[in-house]
Amino acid sequence: MSQTRKRILTGIRPSAALHLGHYAGALETWVRLQDDYECFFLIADYQVSDYADQMDVVREAVFEVALDWLAVGLDPERSHFVIESLVPEHAELTVWLSWFVGLGRLQRNPTLKAEMAELEARAKESVPVAFFTYPIMQVANILMPKAHLVPTGEDQSPHVEMTREVARRFNRMFGEVFVEPEGLIGRVPRLVGLDGKAKMGKSLNNAIFLKEDAETVTQKVMSMFTDPTRIRATDPGHVEGNPVFMYHDAFNPDTAEVQDLKDRYRAGKVGDVEVKQRLVRALNELLEPIRERRAYYQAHPALVREALAAGTGYAKKVAEQTMAEVRAALKLNYLE
Ligand code: ATP
Ligand code: MG
Repeated sequence: MSQTRKRILTGIRPSAALHLGHYAGALETWVRLQDDYECFFLIADYQVSDYADQMDVVREAVFEVALDWLAVGLDPERSHFVIESLVPEHAELTVWLSWFVGLGRLQRNPTLKAEMAELEARAKESVPVAFFTYPIMQVANILMPKAHLVPTGEDQSPHVEMTREVARRFNRMFGEVFVEPEGLIGRVPRLVGLDGKAKMGKSLNNAIFLKEDAETVTQKVMSMFTDPTRIRATDPGHVEGNPVFMYHDAFNPDTAEVQDLKDRYRAGKVGDVEVKQRLVRALNELLEPIRERRAYYQAHPALVREALAAGTGYAKKVAEQTMAEVRAALKLNYLE
């Protein structure tokens, strides 16, 4: 377990397969950083308390997330794929670290506040306590392998900031145990959903999933929201705030084409259909190799299970080591 490279810890909730928002906000950066960092990619199954009545969905999503990771090029030879609850030390560390997070601090966390309001509206009942405390579990996830860097979408930054505070506080009180991590926001910090309103999210029914076939992608793009003020193709259109153009900016590598479409759109010289068709082409070019790799791993499920078992086994050893340090720092060795 000698550590030569700096570490990354980041993760995803096993609530569904992954979408374009994950790709542009997170996965793309993760793939790139695998050479320079020792990466721990976590499937955070302790953090889906909002799916308690759908554990079969969670179970399937653990596998789906791993498939998507392999499909985009995360490499289990270099990186560790970790199932959170199979390393129960995460739960133990969460308990200790929750001593060092003020209630008011958690209540003011803007991401948590928005997610709880959304969940409450959807579920029409009060949010589980475990949902309220999930950011503390994320703190434990990050501090466990002493990660230096945490690449995520923008919505997770408040949690990374909280992690830094907890690390500082713990180290000041009990000696240098934890590393204070840096956050790193992806190329597209918050990809908007197909509805043009909320961020693209697995649970929000506004996503294009990485595993979807070319026809489904076409259908979804063709029915996307565009500029609501534009009635005819000859009306001058708005590019800013138009989700179709946001996706062009995010996923169409042909910047000259995107610029030409924007110029013509503003001048009322191109229809939504053409703009969308060109987006469809760009998206399908991006997704095709991902679909192919996914199909390969889907046909070889033993490889997926092996990746998860190996990464989780390694993370467990790292966690045992960190917990030994935490227990010593807190002087919990009562009987020695
Ligand atoms: P859920 O709706 O179940 O919470 P989610 O789509 O928000 O799902 P998470 O598992 O919560 O996905 O997030 C995983 C990672 O992907 C995080 O780093 C998050 O910041 C990033 N991410 C998720 N959605 C987007 C998005 N639309 N744009 C950019 N990054 C995103
Ligand atoms: Mg989320």
